[in-house]
Amino acid sequence: MRVVKSIKVLRKLLRKEKLSNHKIGFVPTMGSLHEGHLSLIRNCRRENEISILSIFINPKQFVKGDDFSSYPREEKKDIFLAKKENIDIIFFPTNKEMYSDGHSTVINVEKLSTVLCGKYRPGHFQGVTTVVGKLLNIIEPDTLYLGQKDAQQAIILKKMIDDLNWPVKVNICPTVREKNGLAMSSRNQYLSDNEKKEASILFRSLKEAKHTILSGQRDSKKIIQSIRNLITKNSSAKIQYIECVNADTLEKLTILKGKMMIALAVHLGRARLIDNIQIAVK
Ligand code: AMP
Repeated sequence: MRVVKSIKVLRKLLRKEKLSNHKIGFVPTMGSLHEGHLSLIRNCRRENEISILSIFINPKQFVKGDDFSSYPREEKKDIFLAKKENIDIIFFPTNKEMYSDGHSTVINVEKLSTVLCGKYRPGHFQGVTTVVGKLLNIIEPDTLYLGQKDAQQAIILKKMIDDLNWPVKVNICPTVREKNGLAMSSRNQYLSDNEKKEASILFRSLKEAKHTILSGQRDSKKIIQSIRNLITKNSSAKIQYIECVNADTLEKLTILKGKMMIALAVHLGRARLIDNIQIAVK
């Protein structure tokens, strides 16, 4: 396994692989690796000859009030875990390597970036699309591996790739959860043991809502209210949003139909947690 910090060195390494027609898979992360990240890495390993993991805590996707300075940084542990998974290359750039002085070009996916999390974290998705766009230009992978946990991010990145005609396949991998249903996240480290227990209500309430919808309920207001009640009754979480949306366009649904998703964000203790569930309504 190679740990590479320089774009030039990475490009040189990859040129050889491309000349040998090797398939290249790419997993972008902000590090502090957990089983969710590892599942992406395993899919990537299975489907490609060369697997690249990037670890970069991208300052441009943190907005005012976010946790950039306290975001967990675990370089040694991450390298150990990536090695165990037989990753070929870890790309670990510095801020300076990614953003030269005076960097001023951004990628913005309109509309999709302004709803759900985008409404509360203006500029966040522009930071994500800009950095992933740069990484795709540097690595030129065949396939990009993303997690369903960050469903809006995955939809936006797919749209960017499509709109900009990048020849990259996108593989969206299922959300990996703790035993109690809490979606794994680097930010779960901010939770106390008790808050972790409380946080299990998020996925439980989403699963119950799915069951209610599949049993015939089509009124989004009723579904949202039932999730709100469950969360407030069973935890100290402060709800930021709960929305029923079309799973592709992220448009709000009043009457539930088609391929839909319930997405939510809450604050619990020091952590901001997100989760979602997909439902095919007949
Ligand atoms: P992050 O390091 O949080 O930026 O995440 C890097 C990638 O891992 C993103 O594509 C996430 O959607 C994905 N990911 C994070 N948590 C999970 C999880 N619990 N299950 C599956 N994928 C995840």
